[in-house]
Amino acid sequence: KVTPAHDLDDFEIGIRHGLPLVSVIDTEGKMTQEADKYEGMDRYQCRQQILKDLEAYGYLVKTEPIKHAVGHCQRCGSPVEPLISEQWFVKMKPLAEPALKVVQEGDVKFVPERFTKIYEHWMNNIKDWCISRQLWWGHRIPAWYCEDCDEMIVARSEPESCPKCGGKVYQDEDVLDTWFSSALWPFSTLGWPDHTPELEYFFPTDILITGYDIIFFWVARMIFMSIEFTDQPPFHHVLIHGLVRDALGRKMSKSLGNGIDPLDVVEDYGADALRVSLVSGVSMGSDMRFYDEKIEGARNFCNKLWNAARYCFTNLEGWSPGEIWLEGGEENVFQLDQNISMPASRWILSQLELTISSVHDSLERYEPGEALDAIIHFIWDDFCDWYIEFSKEELSNSENQEETKFVLYYVLKTSLALLHPFAPFITEELWSYLPKGKGEDSIMISQYPLPGNFHVDTAAQEDIGALIEVIRGIRNMRAEVNIPTGKREKVIMLVDELKKWEEFAPYIKRLAWADPLEILLKEPDVNPPAKALASVAKGAEVFLPLAGVINIDEEIKRLEKLASEIEEDVLRTEERLSNQEFLTKAPEDIVEKQKKRRQENIEKLETVKKRISMLNQIRIS
Ligand SMILES: [Zn+2]
Ligand SMILES: [Zn+2]
Repeated sequence: KVTPAHDLDDFEIGIRHGLPLVSVIDTEGKMTQEADKYEGMDRYQCRQQILKDLEAYGYLVKTEPIKHAVGHCQRCGSPVEPLISEQWFVKMKPLAEPALKVVQEGDVKFVPERFTKIYEHWMNNIKDWCISRQLWWGHRIPAWYCEDCDEMIVARSEPESCPKCGGKVYQDEDVLDTWFSSALWPFSTLGWPDHTPELEYFFPTDILITGYDIIFFWVARMIFMSIEFTDQPPFHHVLIHGLVRDALGRKMSKSLGNGIDPLDVVEDYGADALRVSLVSGVSMGSDMRFYDEKIEGARNFCNKLWNAARYCFTNLEGWSPGEIWLEGGEENVFQLDQNISMPASRWILSQLELTISSVHDSLERYEPGEALDAIIHFIWDDFCDWYIEFSKEELSNSENQEETKFVLYYVLKTSLALLHPFAPFITEELWSYLPKGKGEDSIMISQYPLPGNFHVDTAAQEDIGALIEVIRGIRNMRAEVNIPTGKREKVIMLVDELKKWEEFAPYIKRLAWADPLEILLKEPDVNPPAKALASVAKGAEVFLPLAGVINIDEEIKRLEKLASEIEEDVLRTEERLSNQEFLTKAPEDIVEKQKKRRQENIEKLETVKKRISMLNQIRIS
């Protein structure tokens, strides 16, 4: 059978061969007059009746079930009957050509660039666009019809009467496709078709940010509409981001019920934590997964910043950077470079300077995720974990207090400003407690940090870098042999340069509980201590003597027992994971948990075995 009025392919065949378009089903799903004796019947009943009639007349050869694709209504699920109807279309070719050209000529650039292909593919294969919809909501089609002579009038405003016969007119009841209205957004929101100051100032804009799933529906249509009506593309860059998926990587949807209400997340973790977790670690155009650990990490970061700021405020109470500084100006840059002398201060200011540069570099390449990660790394690792700890030592030293306070103030303030676009609420709140200068009442209107305020001090970077290596080395060695945090133990250092390390000694004592700390110049006749753990940093060898700290034999025994326990656990999980019944019957997340457990235990076992062999070596040394 060929039914040109009830099937898209048949319609094409009908057009090619000049077949009549016979509509047998109406918009109510009932049979029309054309259906002759079936007229008025429901479409389902009619199908059954036709079967019966065919059988009765002896025309039915056989019946058998056939699987084929039938469109169903997305709202109510009932089968859709294609009907023929009159609709409004936009002829696309003349619109698509200039829209393709602006992208090919680089006037509109996609970031990441790979999305250009998707755009070009759509535009090269474009079909005429059906823009009329039989819905209640939307812009109405600006077409009127004469009640008397059927004349059609398309106009900007409603005609008073039919220009042909003077009869009454009524407006087309259809509305425009919602994407048609959205396509006008870049200029219609600014007052177009009037030449408003807003249109003059804001159009075209520099950048559009959107998801890759609506490149054709929205981006392409804004581009060709703008070119058609204003002779220019609506923006010069299109920054494409990915979609937020659930923890298993599935698209969030109503039918799966795996959607997340951002307001609930804000309630539980805070708006800044949500924002940070959505930007951090995400590269443009790639999808991201939303899972609890990630947002917990973001919340922990916000808490870390909050606590660091409170530490600063407590120590800065009653202190001010001084009128000259707050007044601002180039002399401050000079001051910063000349008047800051301690290696730790010069190190953190160097790290800050590098962070500011890399943030600008990332933002210029449209990689906000990269920019945020650099800021988080700076605040969390450099500032909170190291500089604040160094500052505790310096604040107890009256000679170094003033500089340390200034650096705490300056670094905190600059960090808040850097982070502000990514965590607006917490940064504004903390900013309000800082001494402020002109134009700094709100962080929102303050200057975004620019590079160039401090010359990176590579010597300070090397020295503090080595210091951090030493402290980490001691902490690791202590962990290897289970020394509790805070318990003071002797450390011996063999160094290339005595003065520098003696200067750093208070930091090492404080941050690695190295007490007593013996620093010796490395010379041919100085031997490393026996029965000690060792680690190496630039310019220093560090030793943790074990005599009196642990009983090596007992520690080996303890570790061997631990190793055999872990081994047993690994065997048990392996047994379970090779059990076919378990694999097929257990829920996916349980299987995943077992796999994760096995992997973690294998890694743990390796560490424990390494420690045992290390201790064995020390025992016989
Ligand atoms: Zn329906
Ligand atoms: Zn008329």
